[in-house]
Amino acid sequence: MTVPFVDLKRQFRTIEPEIRPAIEGVLESCAFIMGPEMRAFEQEFARYCDVRHCVGVASGTAAIELALRALDIGPGDEVIIPANTYVASALAVTATGASVVLVDVDPVSANIDADVLERAFTPRTKAIMPVHLYGRPADMESILAVARRHGCFVVEDAAQAHGARYRDRLAGGLADIACFSFYPGKNLGAYGDGGAVTTNDPALYDRLILLRDFGQRRKYEHLIKGTNSRLDTLQAAVLSVKLRHLDRWNARRREAAQLYNELLRELPDVAVPDISKECESVFHLYVIEVPDRSNVIEALEGAGVQYGIHYPIPIHRQPAYTELASGSFPVTERRAERILSLPMFGEITDDEIRYTSSVIARAVDRKPAPVGAR
Ligand SMILES: *Cc1c(COP(=O)(O)O)cnc(C)c1O
Repeated sequence: MTVPFVDLKRQFRTIEPEIRPAIEGVLESCAFIMGPEMRAFEQEFARYCDVRHCVGVASGTAAIELALRALDIGPGDEVIIPANTYVASALAVTATGASVVLVDVDPVSANIDADVLERAFTPRTKAIMPVHLYGRPADMESILAVARRHGCFVVEDAAQAHGARYRDRLAGGLADIACFSFYPGKNLGAYGDGGAVTTNDPALYDRLILLRDFGQRRKYEHLIKGTNSRLDTLQAAVLSVKLRHLDRWNARRREAAQLYNELLRELPDVAVPDISKECESVFHLYVIEVPDRSNVIEALEGAGVQYGIHYPIPIHRQPAYTELASGSFPVTERRAERILSLPMFGEITDDEIRYTSSVIARAVDRKPAPVGAR
């Protein structure tokens, strides 16, 4: 048996009869840029997230950069983000000219630790950008309270959290503005790059509409220095089809996480993710912690099970961010050494989960007992 980390082909086969006509429709109309399918998807996704506005853009990274620019964030400003995130969160901040300020994360949720947030503020702090990492919403109530005290914006990096809920409210509508990625491997993924920004604020929406399309409202009349960052019509057509299946896929991911947790919870030296009702994860990734990771990896590789590490090198340890290298983020650093992402996707079978779990059980069992243990 081999178990893929993600299997996009398996998903495609189940929706192929819907996808092909959707793509053909765009081919027939040739409205490749800002065609009616793009507008339709924007409306559908806004409705899905229960927000007023959605603006389709070129990628998740572009979504963050444009959301920050819509808030007028740029050179001289600081944006607080978790140290434990994908590098794109930081790169998009940097792209606006603003500076990245990292904060450590909570060991249980792996998201921004609201208790250390306070210390990261300076007079230049313009926004906090919590990341709903692995599909689990950040502790928004505490984060919003701190932000309100300091009078700064809150931007959601919801690139991994399509459909996730925080106390019955959906990611995308939990703060001032939110950013999504439709990279193919995300819970809602296009067949290429894509992204979106959601907001309830009509003024921000209006600025985003300009920013993503050369700053123009009417052709050749450029009101602000915008850029070229639009969601392809072809991708929008694919996304409209896939949005209809998202809740089902997310439900299966949650079921898969439950089963993994049941099978792995009791193993020595394996920490499974906390499953919270208040912060309902959509399990973009299923991430465990193991102290002896190389041993487990060796076993998975030997058994044909694919895995990932999200993420092996924290941002402040990246050559691209030497200016952050003096920072110390112990929870993030410890996680980077121990985390392991197991196969997780909407079509994963119980057999694949059981097989993967049994490989891990054998690996941690084989490990010699630590010196001094009874
Ligand atoms: C995927 C991702 C992004 C970037 O999205 P792209 O579409 O790949 O540009 C940003 N932040 C997080 C947390 C992500 O997982």
